[in-house]
Formats: sequence, C-alpha cells, structure tokens
Amino acid sequence: MEWQAPKIERRKSRQIKVGSVLVGGDAPISVQSMTCTDTLNIEATVAQIKALADVGADIVRVSVPSMEAAEAFKEIVSLVDVPIVSDIHFDYRIAIECAKNGAAALRINPGNIGARHKVEAVCQAAKDYGLPIRVGVNAGSLDKDLLEKYGAPNPDAMVEAALRSADILESHNFVDYAFSVKASELNLCVASYEQLAAQTDAPLHLGITEAGGLTGGTVLSSIGIGMLLAKGIGDTLRVSLAADPVEEVKVGWAILKSMHLRTRGIDVVACPTCSRHGLDVVGTVKALEARLSDIRKPIKVAVMGCIVNGPGEALRADVAVCGGKNGNSLIYEHGQMMGRISNDEILDRLESRVRALATAQE
Ligand code: SF4
Repeated sequence: MEWQAPKIERRKSRQIKVGSVLVGGDAPISVQSMTCTDTLNIEATVAQIKALADVGADIVRVSVPSMEAAEAFKEIVSLVDVPIVSDIHFDYRIAIECAKNGAAALRINPGNIGARHKVEAVCQAAKDYGLPIRVGVNAGSLDKDLLEKYGAPNPDAMVEAALRSADILESHNFVDYAFSVKASELNLCVASYEQLAAQTDAPLHLGITEAGGLTGGTVLSSIGIGMLLAKGIGDTLRVSLAADPVEEVKVGWAILKSMHLRTRGIDVVACPTCSRHGLDVVGTVKALEARLSDIRKPIKVAVMGCIVNGPGEALRADVAVCGGKNGNSLIYEHGQMMGRISNDEILDRLESRVRALATAQE
C-alpha cells in the first residue's frame, strides 16, 4: 500500500473574514503578498495586484502611507477582485480612511501606531465597517517600553506587544483580529509564534520578516514557516522576499503544497539530471511551468532524465516522461507506459495531457 504522510493537525483557531476569504478555523491556509509599487501609481499597483492574484494570492496587502494614498487605495480596491488589506503605520487616521475606502482588513503595528486612544479609534472604524484587524508585531519596531523592559526583542516582548493590543480591542468587544509576530531572526520568530499560539485562539498570520533575497529568503521562510505549519500553527502566510512579490506567492504555495496542506496547479517532480539524461529536463520543466501556469487543478507531472528513477516516479504521477535513447522518451499516464515519442514532441504531449486531465476534473 502507498505510504501516506501523517496528517498535520491544525491548531484550533477562531475564524475571521477578510473580504471573501475566511482565515482561521478550518479554512484553507491562505497565501498573501504585498505590493511594492507606489500606491499613488494606481495603474501599476492594480497591475501588480492582478499579477499576484493570477499566481494564487488569496489576499493582497497594500501600504498606505498618506491620506493621498488612501484616496488612491479607494480606486485600487474598486478595480480588483482580490481582498485588499491596508497596511498602516504611524497615522491611525489613515487606517480609518482606508476602512471607509473599501479595505477588506486593516493591519496595524502596535509599535508605531501610538497611544491607546488611537488603537481604539481604529477599532471603532473596523467595527463600523465590519472589518478584521491584524495586529502585526515586528521585532524591528517593538514598543519602546517593551524594549526597555526586556532589553532586546525576545518572544516574551513580542507576545506581550501582541496581547496588550488585543486587550484594547477586546475591551471594546472586538474579537475579529489576527496576530503576526514577525522577526528576521528565524528562531526568535518561530519561538514567538509558538508562545503566542499557546496563549490565544486568534488566527495567526505567519511570516519571517525581511527574510532576504530570492534564494536566502526562500530557504529561511520555508524553514521557519514550515516548522510552524508542521506543528499545526498558522492560518495564513506571507513569504517576505526582496524580490518580485509574484515569487512570494509562488514560494508560499510551494510550501503549502509540499506539506500537503493545499493543492493548486501542476506539481512537478523532476530529477536534477546527470550525464545519463536522455532529455533536456531543465528546459522541459521551465517551459512546462510557463505553459501550464493557468492550470488550477492539482495534477502531478514527473519529468525524469532516464530510466534509473524515471519509471518509479512515473508510478506516482498523473503524467510522466522519462528520457530514453536516440532522442526518444517514454511517456506514462497514471503509471502506465503509453509508448515512445520523439523528444521534440514532449512539451506538446505533456501539455495536452495535463489540460485534458484538468478538464476531466471540472
Ligand atoms: Fe541522472 Fe537518470 Fe537520476 Fe536523472 S533520473 S539524475 S538522469 S540517473
């Protein structure tokens, strides 16, 4: 019998609604990203939001640094389908304006939003417009008094920052909030989330903040987010990369897919190739991923260089190709060898079979 990965038991969190997307409870773990365009440039921001939604962003966050940007935010929200979270620092009045202007949620950072009455005013706006709030603690902008108390960011300080903001919200009978406690130091970040998860049933937004460039940030995020997800912690996530945010969404999905927490689109198994390879694995995978980026149904494709491991991987794939000799390769469907084709035909054949299988799943 096929070996099955143990099922991850998710922490029981309460549920909030970010626009049309449920977060927490038994809702699928959502993937978020954030625009990096100038919010005043409505056209560029809308284009980036659409690009993020195309690769699977469930929720997109937009930074709103000024009242002028809050006006642009209103138009941006009206031009896209995906829920938009307004990201607010320093001026609580901008959060109130964004609540009026169509935000699906408000993100505030307790370390720089300021006095209690400002948090209360944001809370009232969220209540008035039926929006959730994310209390987004960041190790780089902890409240001054907590830094004085603890000397430096640590899990106690991060959790205390989160919970005392929640106390203000709850004192106004507002429970539609989520937390994040992000740090760029992996162990601090993971320990903070673990400590917080034990003290609240609020949904948790995961992320390793300022994780770095594409390669380093992907590794750091995958380890940190993966450690938490493996313990059942996490209801939504954002991979934070100094790269095109489209890559953040792709990595977020790759993390969830690799942990069997969500499925979306083709899942490619491919060998790294070696001198035995009988087909161009690297080029085939690259071209295939580009051709099939619109596929949403989960379909497993194996692209293997030769018969050493190819037939074994083909057994577990919906469609597979395995490099053979003299420019011909073996094609498999659901583990059955279907015949040999010329390497020139591989891409068209795999694409047509994947599209047919996706259609059959509709
Ligand atoms: Fe090399 Fe074949 Fe293994 Fe690919 S499957 S790495 S070509 S031995």
